Amino acid sequence: MATPRLEINLDKIAHNTKVLSQLYGSKSIDVCAVTKVVCGDLTIAKCLVTAGITMIADSKVANLKKMRKGDINATFLLIGTPLLSQAAEIVEWADISHNSEPAVIAELGRQALKKGINHQIILMIEMGDLREGIMPESLDEVVNEVLKLEGIELIGLGTNLACFGSIQPSQEKMNSLSKLSDQVERKFHLKFRYVSGGNSANYNWFKSTHSTERINQLRIGESIFLGVEPVHRHPIPDLFTDAFTVVTEVCELKIKPSVPYGETGQNAFGHVLQFTDKGEIPRAILGMGLQDVDVSGLRPMLDIDILGAGSDQMIIDPKNTDLRVGDEVSFMPNYAALLSAMTSPYVEKSMTLSCEREGIL
Ligand SMILES: *Cc1c(COP(=O)(O)O)cnc(C)c1O
Repeated sequence: MATPRLEINLDKIAHNTKVLSQLYGSKSIDVCAVTKVVCGDLTIAKCLVTAGITMIADSKVANLKKMRKGDINATFLLIGTPLLSQAAEIVEWADISHNSEPAVIAELGRQALKKGINHQIILMIEMGDLREGIMPESLDEVVNEVLKLEGIELIGLGTNLACFGSIQPSQEKMNSLSKLSDQVERKFHLKFRYVSGGNSANYNWFKSTHSTERINQLRIGESIFLGVEPVHRHPIPDLFTDAFTVVTEVCELKIKPSVPYGETGQNAFGHVLQFTDKGEIPRAILGMGLQDVDVSGLRPMLDIDILGAGSDQMIIDPKNTDLRVGDEVSFMPNYAALLSAMTSPYVEKSMTLSCEREGIL
């Protein structure tokens, strides 16, 4: 089989999806699946829908368009912060979008009106992580503006934590969001369909909470695909953590010194590296590099050490493995490595499944 490749086990993704939907559903929270890390891949999206997902979120309009055109039967949510310049495409391909800027919402309204449709929005609230969101004290003013707009339907509030500022989605934060929702609903005579409490990082809050209050949706990517919660990266019970593996092959294997020799300067990436002298060691080169995957996010499945990487190669210490030229070497990707491998056109995507039985492909 071709390398480098990303092996994708659809059965494991479907299993993780079902377990998480059941878990969060046990406290009346809907799971919206976030496909940005898999670039809105159509086969994976079909797998999610077959496993029971009814809403799919992505941060790129192009991915939503691809899934909509690919007949993925779900409600599509645009997450992140929508671009003013993309308003026309957003109302065309997304049913719902996250918003925090009145000027963008007004333009979405104009574009929706042109098409004779309503565009639904969820207002994002800043709760301390300092990425997208309206400051709570400005919320009333924004809601007031938004309710005057034709073509726009305000269907909920949301927040996103543990992304930029690594602020945890605590009970206190979830209570604040719930309280804000109550206040806005009362003041403006609304009934929100969604109070969206966050992402995979909400797992620990969810497990320990006695009251989910108004939170009725989470937007989940990493836990579905990698089976972990992103706060400590601990595996979640009953989930597969190996739905994705990155595979490459050995292309050179020789005994060489452990310290480079000759005059030193910057390497190809502008760094000057330090080396410890371990004498002569076996060194292997693997045919996969930074143009294929974020090498720093790979965990080898064999007992080998990654020494470094260039555009198209990785250098490893094969230690006591008996690797030969042509042998395949597999790695488990973290979120960043998965994102890069999915995005790289040089990495073959190889789907394995028995899901065919469920009609996924
Ligand atoms: C990426 C993203 C998510 C999903 O995050 P995971 O950690 O993959 O679950 C949810 N909400 C927003 C706004 C995001 O940008």
